[in-house]
Amino acid sequence: MPARVVLIVEDNEQNMELASYLLEEAGFEVRKAGDAAEARRALAGGERPDIVLMDMNLAGVDGLAIVGELRRNPTNAALPVLALTAHAMRGDRERFLEGGCDGYLAKPIDVKTFVRDVEAALREGRHVRGGEERS
Ligand code: MN
Repeated sequence: MPARVVLIVEDNEQNMELASYLLEEAGFEVRKAGDAAEARRALAGGERPDIVLMDMNLAGVDGLAIVGELRRNPTNAALPVLALTAHAMRGDRERFLEGGCDGYLAKPIDVKTFVRDVEAALREGRHVRGGEERS
């Protein structure tokens, strides 16, 4: 079975290190993007990841803007995206889902649940297809 490829977009080095360490240990192939420009490059290539973890708070850029760009490309319709966020406030979940994410992972990263949550999102795939919410 080919390794599952995860693209991590995260501008905090410690978070990036921890997330990539945990996912590599679990057998994922990890691609890293440390800013919005790297994220755009990684998503523009022909080789798409199987899942994207997207920091919602990149330097100078709202992570949802990148997710919006990604979703406007029809070839990414089924690509699961999880928001990474340090401040999940009331209403944020809805905002992330409406913005094209399939869920979110809270920072600081919980080493006990992180990989499990990524694998679950990968299994479930994209929640919304053709504008219809799956049950
Ligand atoms: Mn950040």
